[in-house]
Amino acid sequence: MKKKWIAVYFILLFLPYLAVLILGKAGFFEPRSEEEQPQGYTVTLYRQETGETEVLELRDYLWGVIAGEMPASYPEEALKAQVVASYTYLLHRKETIASHPASDFGHTGDICNDPSHCKAYLSPAEAVAKWGQDWLDASQQRLAEAVDSVLGEALLYDGSAANTVFHAISGGRTENAADVWGASVPYLQSVDSHWDTAAKGFFSTVTIPLTEFQETLGQQDCTPGAVVLTEGGSVATQVLGEKTYTGRELRQLFKLRSTRFTLEVTETEAVFQVSGYGHQVGLSQYGASVLAETGYTYREILAYYYKGTTLTENYYPL
Ligand SMILES: [Zn+2]
Repeated sequence: MKKKWIAVYFILLFLPYLAVLILGKAGFFEPRSEEEQPQGYTVTLYRQETGETEVLELRDYLWGVIAGEMPASYPEEALKAQVVASYTYLLHRKETIASHPASDFGHTGDICNDPSHCKAYLSPAEAVAKWGQDWLDASQQRLAEAVDSVLGEALLYDGSAANTVFHAISGGRTENAADVWGASVPYLQSVDSHWDTAAKGFFSTVTIPLTEFQETLGQQDCTPGAVVLTEGGSVATQVLGEKTYTGRELRQLFKLRSTRFTLEVTETEAVFQVSGYGHQVGLSQYGASVLAETGYTYREILAYYYKGTTLTENYYPL
């Protein structure tokens, strides 16, 4: 009789743990030893869809970021570069929030799961919902190993975590941060990445009927005039009729994959020929995969796209 109660007691004791395990909210990593585990290092994730925050183990958070941000089939060194960039980006946000408490970041928590605001994040359950169980079976361990192999490694510049932004595919060169966001950042300068031209989805075309094009711009005369290019080769400004638009404005208005485009306006339509995908600043994810395939280590990949930064190990500053 006594034994039975002891059994019931243990089942009840482990019930919450089992529930969590089955629901897939935790437990997708093998436990680490005390020395290896960054003690108490958690990430507060703000979920844009619900407005709620969730506290995650750092390793779980990083797993979910690379699951959401980079194809799991990319080479190991590219995945590791992505982990370091994602962790450093998180630290940069935390440092910025800590030093500017009055600033409005648009949400609470350390970081959110909206890729257009912060970075994407997928829990294993969300990854299954998006790509299926086969994806998880094939990728779970691979991503976990990438996270563990570089956990706690960050890129510093001038003693602070660098703003390690990244994008899917450059247009052949990355962009200067100054040309995209207005402020120059020493380690976010334009670098060659011409190997990106081989990426699937490098070229895209957007065709808009002329009347819709005119309506969107609010003007009749949409004749293309002078174009000013950035150092990276994207459109800084484009004259259309009497007005001058920035490449970013046109990208946003016509949902272009990047600001690296050419535009032709005929009597019936406007045609954008677009190269690359994303803001093109910092690390090119496709570029990282090519460099990894040619033998670059994650350290070399990061040093290439974030010039002048220093890789630091066991970095848990906040
Ligand atoms: Zn955010």
